[in-house]
Amino acid sequence: MAEVEIRSVSKSFGAVEVLKDVNLKINSGEFVVFVGPSGCGKSTLLRMITGLETESAGDLFIGGQRVNDVDPAKRGTAMVFQSYALYPHMTVAENMGFGLKMAGEPKASIRGKVEEAASILRLEQLLDRRPGQLSGGQKQRVAIGRAIVRQPKVFLFDEPLSNLDAELRVQMRAELIDLHRRLGATMIYVTHDQVEAMTLADRIVVMNGGVVQQYGRPLDLYDDPDNRFVAGFIGSPK
Ligand code: ADP
Ligand code: MG
Repeated sequence: MAEVEIRSVSKSFGAVEVLKDVNLKINSGEFVVFVGPSGCGKSTLLRMITGLETESAGDLFIGGQRVNDVDPAKRGTAMVFQSYALYPHMTVAENMGFGLKMAGEPKASIRGKVEEAASILRLEQLLDRRPGQLSGGQKQRVAIGRAIVRQPKVFLFDEPLSNLDAELRVQMRAELIDLHRRLGATMIYVTHDQVEAMTLADRIVVMNGGVVQQYGRPLDLYDDPDNRFVAGFIGSPK
């Protein structure tokens, strides 16, 4: 069964249609990467899956349930943003546990989940620091940790590595692959970096102008692109 199904979804802001009849099925446990030029609708689609935007038309299913009208907190999704979006006045541990605290979870249970996520992300020594005392890579780990503690079925990443330097980006890619292996969760990942997409993805969605151009395995897209746009974007010689 598809963990996430997007069925004939369109989205307009005023008169501008930014997503046009998008149809996609994402399998449980799959790592799917969306690529495409700036402004093609990648973030809008992610925000819609997690419930920060509403569809203008079409249906969205998560775990087989139609979620168009389901509260973002109850969709089983957690999103990681490029900008980290950490609270500067809170410690690392408080940042990671904040969502659970708001949901009314007991302190001891929050602490346990935060410590487990911190160990996965090698943040154990930094739990009492504040974001201002962290490097960019450490901040992004905290943002990922904040998603992990919620134990989502579906992780959504919106260009999470774009603010990191090249060396750290390569290292974080390996960590994301490892994280996916450990958690077995469905991961939906947006980037404009083709190499990142080819490295991380089980399947890649190539988008342009609000339209899905092709959806398939990285090597299939490379070997057999459906059109010139896909060939150009993936860097295929065809
Ligand atoms: P991407 O993430 O692929 O760069 P976005 O999904 O952020 O693209 O944006 C797609 C298009 O929708 C862009 O033209 C953008 O300007 C427009 N857009 C996004 N959010 C809004 C909004 N809240 N109001 C109006 N236009 C928006
Ligand atoms: Mg974007």
